[in-house]
Amino acid sequence: METAKAILETRGLSRSFSGFVAVNDVNFSVRERTIHALIGPNGAGKSTLFNLLTRFLPATAGQIYYDGTDITHASPASLARQGLVRSFQISSVFPHLSVLENVRIALQSRHGETMDFWLSDRRLRKYDEEVMSLLADIGLENYAQRIAIELPYGRKRALELATTLAMNPRVILLDEPMAGMGQEDIQRTSALIQKVAQGRTVLMVEHNLSVVADISDTITVLRRGEIIAEGTYDIVSADPEVRQAYIGG
Ligand code: ADP
Ligand code: MG
Repeated sequence: METAKAILETRGLSRSFSGFVAVNDVNFSVRERTIHALIGPNGAGKSTLFNLLTRFLPATAGQIYYDGTDITHASPASLARQGLVRSFQISSVFPHLSVLENVRIALQSRHGETMDFWLSDRRLRKYDEEVMSLLADIGLENYAQRIAIELPYGRKRALELATTLAMNPRVILLDEPMAGMGQEDIQRTSALIQKVAQGRTVLMVEHNLSVVADISDTITVLRRGEIIAEGTYDIVSADPEVRQAYIGG
């Protein structure tokens, strides 16, 4: 594969919790326009690394670079404005608003428009075309008028992805996008991730190894806060230390 430039990179990144080192001196690099999976046994430090990359957690040591810029001290909100957007966050969807309204609010916020739900119809309508085109991309066009809380689980997650896309991200970070899904939703989400990855970079933490094998360009395996293997699925799955980590934890 041709080598794309690194869009996201860490140097010596560490995070301790009262002396316990959850992420230990990690040098990590995500190439632009790839699907990159972060895997590893429970407690390996995946979520912590994710939280460090999105600045939901401050690092104890080390640096993070986004598109060549040091973002070690940036705020999550400013990163989102710069196109580094995290999806499947707990409260990214307003449960009692419709699918259309949810995506419209995300678009409004990206365009710096007030989050006022009672904007005049005329001002709201101008977003509807963009909302509907986004919903069509995600396969939610027939759900536009449905109330978010009433959506089937898989569709709710798709809506979260739609609100993420409304932010016009360059890099999308997905934390266990298939968690809690049945086989049908897993297949659908997997196809959706490949679709949204076109022209973008996707970094995901995911436990479903068959999905990871299917769609990832690169896989990083973490264990006890350290990278123990990296590469294609064939390479990392053949690695004795990786096999040991999955058996021995
Ligand atoms: P993973 O997502 O790979 O399962 P985590 O990043 O959640 O792992 O956790 C890595 C280690 O750091 C675990 O041992 C966990 O107990 C510890 N840890 C994570 N967050 C905290 C926290 N806020 N306070 C104390 N320990 C934490
Ligand atoms: Mg985790």
